[in-house]
Amino acid sequence: MIGGGISGLAAALELRRSLGADADILVLEAYDRLGGKLKTVDFADGPVDMGAEAFLTRRTGLADLVDELGLADELRVPSGLRSCFYVDGHLVSAPGRTIMGIPARGVDVADVVSPETAARIDAEATTTPLDWAVGDDINVGTLVRSRYGEDAVARLVSPMLGGVYSCSADALGLRATVPALAAVFDDLASTGAPVHLSTAVASLLAEREDAARVLAERGEEPAPLFNSFAHGYRRLVRALADAADADVRLNTQVESVGRWNGRLWLEPVGEVDAVVVATPAPTAAVLLADVAPRAAGLLEAVELASSAVVGMRFDTDAGLPETTGVLLGTDARTHAKAFTFSSRKWPHLAERGGAFVRASFGTLADASLVDADDRTLIGYAVEDLRTVTGFQARPVETFVQRWWGGLPSYPEGHLARMSAVQADLATIPRIALAGAVLQGVGVPACADSGRDAARKIIAELG
Ligand SMILES: Cc1cc2nc3c(=O)[nH]c(=O)nc-3n(C[C@H](O)[C@H](O)[C@H](O)COP(=O)(O)OP(=O)(O)OC[C@H]3O[C@@H](n4cnc5c(N)ncnc54)[C@H](O)[C@@H]3O)c2cc1C
Repeated sequence: MIGGGISGLAAALELRRSLGADADILVLEAYDRLGGKLKTVDFADGPVDMGAEAFLTRRTGLADLVDELGLADELRVPSGLRSCFYVDGHLVSAPGRTIMGIPARGVDVADVVSPETAARIDAEATTTPLDWAVGDDINVGTLVRSRYGEDAVARLVSPMLGGVYSCSADALGLRATVPALAAVFDDLASTGAPVHLSTAVASLLAEREDAARVLAERGEEPAPLFNSFAHGYRRLVRALADAADADVRLNTQVESVGRWNGRLWLEPVGEVDAVVVATPAPTAAVLLADVAPRAAGLLEAVELASSAVVGMRFDTDAGLPETTGVLLGTDARTHAKAFTFSSRKWPHLAERGGAFVRASFGTLADASLVDADDRTLIGYAVEDLRTVTGFQARPVETFVQRWWGGLPSYPEGHLARMSAVQADLATIPRIALAGAVLQGVGVPACADSGRDAARKIIAELG
């Protein structure tokens, strides 16, 4: 395994399970710790995650893994509070009836967008239909701007998607980031029906509401959308590494992967039977350049978004709004792009007393703040928090975490390019790829990609 993040560790565990106790499994990690973007930091009152802090429960692979590793008791659920948008100097509850910020009706987002935009959303179904053929893809920013206008992109969709991808809607493809909507467009186009954004969103919202109604009729609560770990992701990283029982070599940066006379060679480690590359895309491109040049060429073009997270612990939460956090539109005059009120979002963090807030900075388009020094970033975080919420307290403890190249971008056509990468690698024995660039940036998708990569190797090793 090259890379000791969630993708590499999930691959290592899958290999151990299939190949048994005698297999020599190496995890080669460039840094001095395992986990990659999973990093838990000890604050005076307990551990808090400074990279990923939660995971979506919709994809069940990670939850099953957590169960198998005996960590299910450590999972925690969110408070159920809503997040907010910051609009024209006010906090506004995030509209519930949208698909990733894309509404079907003006009235559902009237607090966030201008009356003109709300009217345009309502009229969209009467305008010329979208020119859409089954399998098409489109940039999300272009789509929403062309149908609803700039306001909807800047105030709704970019903040919403930016919270996941550190990119504006203009850097993201519909098929990868709002796949359900692309699927409705396909369905409409395949039957010859006109394709309108508002009607497609309305049909998805109706499906969601029907499912909620069925649950309510059965007297069941909907499962929480997210889980997090009571003591941070650190526990998952440790449990995975223990269960994989691999030879972990920290501070070991792999520089190249070569093949001579059918044998694989990693520099500086030596000969191996097979390799899973589980590093960010640009590094994977360098490592695969000799053994899989076509895949490497496609990976080289992947852009990474950098970000910085400032964790702030306060000894009081008096005056901190009752919301899980604030998404800031691209038109907001703040340095931070979002705040997570971790102690409002997660009851297990609230139990510690005081408040914990994470401020996020940097996007794909503008990562300049990621290079700012700690003092500057903490200053911006405190100042912006005060501007946005009126919360006056000063943090009693802070931690600044920079994630250079933290997340791959998923522009239009990305999934098709990644399919081409996988098709190329399918023809190359005993080399597999895993990581956030393939199936989605979320931790569950990364873990799935690690297991899939391991299965390719297992099949090829026979
Ligand atoms: C700020 C932030 C918040 C996030 N929040 C969430 C969240 O709440 N929920 C969620 O599901 N996802 C979240 N994500 C996304 C998720 O954390 C990542 O996509 C995922 O952890 C990536 O895992 P990975 O193993 O593919 O890559 P990484 O974690 O990047 O691991 C790759 C590893 O490879 C190592 N490496 C690189 N080059 C070499 C080399 N040449 N030789 C050896 N080792 C090398 C690196 O040091 C690193 O440890 C977040 C990401 C960020 C940046």
